[in-house]
Amino acid sequence: MEDCLFCKIVKGEIPSKKVYEDEEILAFEDINPAAPIHILIIPKKHITSLAYLEKEDEPLVGKIYGVMNKIATEKGFKEDGYRVIVNCGKNGGQEVMHLHFHLLAGRKFGEKII
Ligand code: 5GP
Ligand code: ZN
Repeated sequence: MEDCLFCKIVKGEIPSKKVYEDEEILAFEDINPAAPIHILIIPKKHITSLAYLEKEDEPLVGKIYGVMNKIATEKGFKEDGYRVIVNCGKNGGQEVMHLHFHLLAGRKFGEKII
């Protein structure tokens, strides 16, 4: 996707602070952090949102959760806990239309929605 911000980050056309990378997944620091640790985990391939996930992409989502677990372990916040947020579409508040998982840690989240 030529005009997609996160595709540009994947291609290195826009710089990012990388936390993790493999053939399919990239994790990088959010530019406007909502917590002391705020990492975005994305599939390298362009998927617009959770709503556009194909059956064949489902194992990739499982891998993304595995990467989040690995990051939590390596960065030492696994035991204290963290929050994972996926905004989907207009009503979900999604601003960048490339599937991404927010991994938030380093403080207690009090503002529970559910
Ligand atoms: P959304 O609101 O779509 O769920 O989240 C988009 C996230 O992308 C926001 O938290 C925002 O701070 C982050 N973001 C937007 N532009 C950039 C950028 O150029 N670089 C990085 N690292 N994060 C970005
Ligand atoms: Zn994209």
